[in-house]
Amino acid sequence: MLTFLRNADVFAPHPLGKSDLLVAGGRILAIAPTLPGAPPGFVAEERDLGGRRLIPGLIDGHVHVTGGGGESGPASRVPPITLTQLSRAGITSVVGVLGTDSTTRNITELVARTLGLREEGLSAWCWTGSYECPPKTLTSSVRSDIAFIDPVLGVGELAISDHRSSQPTLDELLRIAADCHVAGLLSGKAGVLHLHLGDGKRGLELVRQALERSEIPARVFHPTHVNRNKRLFEEAKQMAKDHRMTIDVTAFPADDDGYTADAAIARCLADPDFPAERLTVSSDGAGCLPVFDGDGRLVEMDIGRPRALIETLAALLARGLELERVLPVFTSNVADLLRLSNKGRIAVGLDADLVVLSASHEPVDVMARGRWLVRDGAPTAFGTFEKAARH
Ligand SMILES: [Zn+2]
Repeated sequence: MLTFLRNADVFAPHPLGKSDLLVAGGRILAIAPTLPGAPPGFVAEERDLGGRRLIPGLIDGHVHVTGGGGESGPASRVPPITLTQLSRAGITSVVGVLGTDSTTRNITELVARTLGLREEGLSAWCWTGSYECPPKTLTSSVRSDIAFIDPVLGVGELAISDHRSSQPTLDELLRIAADCHVAGLLSGKAGVLHLHLGDGKRGLELVRQALERSEIPARVFHPTHVNRNKRLFEEAKQMAKDHRMTIDVTAFPADDDGYTADAAIARCLADPDFPAERLTVSSDGAGCLPVFDGDGRLVEMDIGRPRALIETLAALLARGLELERVLPVFTSNVADLLRLSNKGRIAVGLDADLVVLSASHEPVDVMARGRWLVRDGAPTAFGTFEKAARH
C-alpha cells in the first residue's frame, strides 16, 4: 500500500515548503514539490492536505504509561495511559517512566506496557528504575537492563532534591550515571540518566558536582521538571549554557513559583547564549501532579495530560514564535538526545510519524509508522481495551 500525501506545508522541523510525500512500509520514501502518481497495479491512497502544515510526530520522553501517582494511598494510583490519549495529542513516540512508586508497581509491568503500546501502533521505549536509589531493575543491573532489554534507553526518573527521593549521595549518583554511560556505549543506545527534580533548595547541586568531579559527559544527565520553580529554572538554564547539558521542561500547569512550559521554552529561546538544541519538553502524562503541605501530606492532586504538549506548542505560536523555531523542542532535540535516529524529523528513509495541524494548531491527522491513528480529528485506531469498551 502506497500513501501519497499531497500539497503539504512541511516543517521537517525546518520549512521545506509545499511538498508531496510518498509513504510505504512505514517509512517516508520520497519528498518532492510534485510526485508522480502510483504506477499501474499498485494500491495507493491519495490524500490532499490542502496546504495544511505537516510536522513530525511529537516525542514525549516522560509518560507514566502504567499510570503513576499513588502518593495519597492505594486508591490514588493513576490508571495506565491509553493509545488514543497519546495519538489524539499528536504523540507518536513515548518513553515510559515508573515514578514515585516502585513498590506496588515494577519494571516488568513498565516494559510490558511499553511493548503493548508498540503492538498498538506507537513507537515506545522506557526508562529503567524509578525515583528510588539504588534503582530497581529487571535484570538486577542497570547496565544489563540497558544492554539487553530493547525498550530501555537509560535510567529514570531518579529523584533528587525532593522529599520523596531516596536522598542519593554524590557517589551513588555518579555510579548510576556511569552505568548509564557505559551501557550506552555497549548497546549503542542513548544511556541517559533522566532525573526528576523536586522543589528542594539543593536544586541541581548534585549534578553540578557530578560534572565537576567526574569524566562523565554532560549529555548523560537529563534533568526534568526544571520549570517547577523559577530558581531551579535559572540554574538549569545556566547549566545548559555552561555544560551543553540537555534540560527538560514539563508541560504541567504552573503555579506562581514556576513557569508554564511555553514561558520556560520562550525564555530559553530568547537567550542568545542558550544552546537551542539542548532543550526538550515532556508531558508527565498519567503522572500525578501533587501539592504537599509542610508535613509531606498530599493536599491536592491533578493528573498529567499528554495533550499538554500540543497545547504548549499552540501557546508558543500564540506568543509569536515561529513553528520551525519551537518544533525541535518537541521532536528532533528529543530524538537526538535519545539517539532515535529514525524519529523526530521528516526526511526520506525515516519512519512515517506525521501530524497534520489545523489552522488552530490541533492535530487533525496522525500517522505512526505509516499507519493512520487519527483521521479528521477522530481516532481510527484504538488500544485493545479501548476497542472493547466501545462495544
Ligand atoms: Zn517526576
